[in-house]
Amino acid sequence: MIEVDTGAAPVRAIFTTRRGGVSVGPYGSLNLGATVGDDAGAVRRNREAVARAVGCDHGRVAALTQVHGASVVTAGATGGGGTFTGSLDGLAEADALVTREPGVALCAMGADCPVVLMWHEEGAVVAAAHAGWRGIVAGVIGEAISAMGVPASGVSAAVGPHVGACCYPVDHALRGSMAEAFGDDVVRGDAVDLGLACRRALERAGVAGTRIAVESACTSCDAARFFSYRRDGAATGRQAGMICIGVGG
Ligand SMILES: [Zn+2]
Repeated sequence: MIEVDTGAAPVRAIFTTRRGGVSVGPYGSLNLGATVGDDAGAVRRNREAVARAVGCDHGRVAALTQVHGASVVTAGATGGGGTFTGSLDGLAEADALVTREPGVALCAMGADCPVVLMWHEEGAVVAAAHAGWRGIVAGVIGEAISAMGVPASGVSAAVGPHVGACCYPVDHALRGSMAEAFGDDVVRGDAVDLGLACRRALERAGVAGTRIAVESACTSCDAARFFSYRRDGAATGRQAGMICIGVGG
């Protein structure tokens, strides 16, 4: 797992890798996705382990059925109400989560798409967004910052491991819409830089550039550490970003 440096904020945040779990085969080993064909019992055990790693009760982790949109769900005191390690389903369809509740962890997943974790400097509120190109263009990052309900000047963000421009060639139309939305330099040859696009979206929402960290690891290049849909196709796992306001913090 990759620990996120949240500075003085009473917030814990991690990005998971594929290491440290109990799943086997293409899901080996820390797959957190429940709809990718992996054994449900293994997914539950993996999810319990990452909840421990972020320091919260697995019964209060909130997750989503991610749909590449810009909708935000606010999680209350019960978080996901046990669904994260219980039923594994019945989740709201959205791509970003916000909470003001200490001890409620937010979980967003990806296999190449960046997960963006956001937190207020005093730990008043945290957010997590699944930010693939569709979500980024739809405005999911700005919607998440807005739903946090605090001045963006007090918000920091971390953009998790994602498919790099080295491995993300896209068609002409998408290159054009990304350049139009986020500047010409998000296009690199025939590819786009999703991490830079996330940074631009955060800055546009008012987050200071000095408060944004972008993981440089490419999920497609690094098969030992990351799942990648681009590299492996449908039979692969999901890694996650998780964030939680510390209890008593
Ligand atoms: Zn790559």
